Amino acid sequence: NDFLAVLKKIEEGEELTYEEIVLLLKTERKAEIEALFHAADQMRKEIIGDVVDIRGAIEFSNICRKDCKYCGVRKSLKDLERYRMSEDEIMEVVHQMHAIGMQTVILQSGEDLWWTPEKILSLINRIKDETGMKITLSIGERPREEYALYKEAGANNFLLKIEATNEEIFKFIHPDDDYDTRVQCSNWLRELGYLNGSGNIIGLPGQRSEDIAKDILYFKDMGINMIGVGPFLPAKGTPFEKYEAGSVEMTLKAVAVTRIVCKRVFLPATTALATLDRDGQTKALKAGANTIMLINTPAKYRYNYQIYSEKNMVDLKSAYKAVTESSRKFPPYLKVDWEVFKDAGHTEK
Ligand code: SAM
Ligand code: SF4
Repeated sequence: NDFLAVLKKIEEGEELTYEEIVLLLKTERKAEIEALFHAADQMRKEIIGDVVDIRGAIEFSNICRKDCKYCGVRKSLKDLERYRMSEDEIMEVVHQMHAIGMQTVILQSGEDLWWTPEKILSLINRIKDETGMKITLSIGERPREEYALYKEAGANNFLLKIEATNEEIFKFIHPDDDYDTRVQCSNWLRELGYLNGSGNIIGLPGQRSEDIAKDILYFKDMGINMIGVGPFLPAKGTPFEKYEAGSVEMTLKAVAVTRIVCKRVFLPATTALATLDRDGQTKALKAGANTIMLINTPAKYRYNYQIYSEKNMVDLKSAYKAVTESSRKFPPYLKVDWEVFKDAGHTEK
């Protein structure tokens, strides 16, 4: 059958066509889905090995100039307490992360222009001087010159998701964004030498398997290094509040196919997946994913960074569970006392 023929191509290391990718994404047969996950898991094993990379995110500002229709910190949301962490508050968390052996900090925020290049540079310099950690920025669209400044100061990675390569969907969900500008930003980031992060949202209104297949081929053609594939989750007070969440199964299939097509990339088992399914992260780690992002935002701010409602906090406890249940190892450099987490359950919402 066609599915088996595609599996054989994967085993033999051949490139898949668009039609073949669509076929993989569309299957609803249990045995085929398991075979797909297994193939992705094997590829991850061969390419990356049996180690899960742990990164910690600090959501340092929920102030945003944009109004993306899906997002729970969008500009128009009035009932939200807005916050900005100070440089010292951020550094306190960075030091805690560094102390347990984490090597990468993800600095994420709304598109908050209060954070001028000078302020961001000062933060980057302090992180580099005081800890030497790798820095991933996820602060949205900025001019090329700014991206260049951050790179020169030592920022290593940048996450700016395309969200949807179907331009109609892109336009519908992004009242303030232009598709070509977004692609342009990604191109700049690559040219400047960043490890380049992108990704999409699974389950957007009107999205079909064909669109997801095109997203995956876009990641490959753009040479993207980190790909966040996460389900759409409705956020209270947004225009998409009443829409259905994306499917866990489709997200896992997309993760698996992304691993198979894009091969040597960082693929996170996303927080959004953990929110929809308690075992979502374990499942993703068994379907090609190799990274977990912990949320390290201080508790007093977390509640106000619910880009989707009832966001599940991925902390060391839940990560321990996901990683051990996937029969994989944390990176050897993490100095955490894992005994503490031995009987850990998943963090409650
Ligand atoms: N403002 C920056 C940006 O948009 O790139 C970084 C922060 S933004 C909150 C980070 C990511 O959250 C986005 O790339 C988007 O994919 C994801 N996100 C926001 N709202 C979401 C939702 N309701 N469901 C799933 N993912 C969502
Ligand atoms: Fe702002 Fe990013 Fe949310 Fe869009 S997705 S509203 S840019 S925080």
